[in-house]
Amino acid sequence: MTGELDLIVRGGTLVLPGAVRQADIGIAQGRIAVIGRDLGREAPETIDASGLHVLPGAVDAHVHINAPGRSDWEGFPSGTAALAAGGTTTFVDMPLNASPPTTSAAAFDAKLKAAEGSVRVDFALWGGLVPGNLDELEELAARGVVGFKAFMCESGLDEFPACDEETLHSGMVRAAALGKPVAVHAEDAALTAELSAHARSDGAVDARGFLASRPVAAELLAIERALALAGDTGCALHLVHVSTGKGVALVAEARAAGLDVSCETCPHYLVLTEEDLERLGAVAKCAPPLRTPAEREGLWRAVTAGVLPMVASDHSPCPPEMKERDLLSAWGGIAGAETMLPLMLDHGHHSRGIPLERIVDLVAGFPARRFGLAGKGKLEVGADADLALVEMDKRYVLRPEDLRTRHRLSPFVDRPLRGLVVSTVLRGSKVLSESAPVGPPRGRFVRPTLAHSEPLEASR
Ligand code: ZN
Repeated sequence: MTGELDLIVRGGTLVLPGAVRQADIGIAQGRIAVIGRDLGREAPETIDASGLHVLPGAVDAHVHINAPGRSDWEGFPSGTAALAAGGTTTFVDMPLNASPPTTSAAAFDAKLKAAEGSVRVDFALWGGLVPGNLDELEELAARGVVGFKAFMCESGLDEFPACDEETLHSGMVRAAALGKPVAVHAEDAALTAELSAHARSDGAVDARGFLASRPVAAELLAIERALALAGDTGCALHLVHVSTGKGVALVAEARAAGLDVSCETCPHYLVLTEEDLERLGAVAKCAPPLRTPAEREGLWRAVTAGVLPMVASDHSPCPPEMKERDLLSAWGGIAGAETMLPLMLDHGHHSRGIPLERIVDLVAGFPARRFGLAGKGKLEVGADADLALVEMDKRYVLRPEDLRTRHRLSPFVDRPLRGLVVSTVLRGSKVLSESAPVGPPRGRFVRPTLAHSEPLEASR
């Protein structure tokens, strides 16, 4: 390999697809130019990575940056500083809770404009599928969305209504024709609405009341219907934030039967349980809700068996006052942009012995392949030089003042963690150094490749 290198990352322990070994990385023009031991080459800049693990930057395919319109909840500067702090170098933004939501070409343009010059990591965009916007899907696809997100139950925001089944069916027909996946929030609308109304009329507005209003059955019923609709339309389907091992099993079964379907879970379902919601209150409220320890173990079993291919943060913060209501009324959403990778390293790798290659595929490799983000999510010659440098055995306690999100609310503060992200590199430039964001925002919009070019199997 000839040509000038701009940067050499020396002596790190690299987490490569299928192997962990010590090597140097030579970087030219933002891409990985060479990987090898003792390169014997020079570059104007060097990063000494000895004693550190070098991972591909995480690809977080489920993030709510609420700009434009609700940047008082979370904006691009704070949200992407948080992502960089957690070793994430690419995220895919959800079509809500910005105002306008990303359900039209004009809203897509407004989103890109809001992001301009203030994004610390690379990003792609989900478009929204809502009643009445079927005719916008083609233009959104042409603009470069990775796919279309839909709700099967109330989203919590009037401007992003749930899809009735006819809309979801028609939307899937159109998405299939456009070669784009549809992602669904799968909880049964009727059941959750009725149970929530009962909880309210009974005055059961605490954690137990909320949990009872969103049972496991609501998730399973909706997943089954989404699978039936995808099977009927030939649309690629992605189930976001599946909270139960039974839900993952339904998806895995459909996949084995030939459906183009995938799912994700989130660190909070892998780490926290219902007891944490009772103990911590609204900061740990999300939908679907936290589950029992048995359901949490079901998810881990699915991870180790290789049938749960992906983890995303579902970073969905709000202003503190929206959490200071009774638990049934408080905003449902957990801020997790900066803790996804650290939690997976601690709870997945250190505590459960899951190999680092597998952790990296869950949070980076698979989402990049699934959503056509070429050059992302892997350490490979030709890939973007997006790196997370990790002090793997470092033990620390996450403090509120460490958080970079707009509102320093996280159910994970005061928690001992093992595995600290010390530097993050985006296309060959440091965006995090000594665990602090550095340099100007240099994130770019990533346009996905149209077709899924790689097999979608999870790595084992
Ligand atoms: Zn979400």
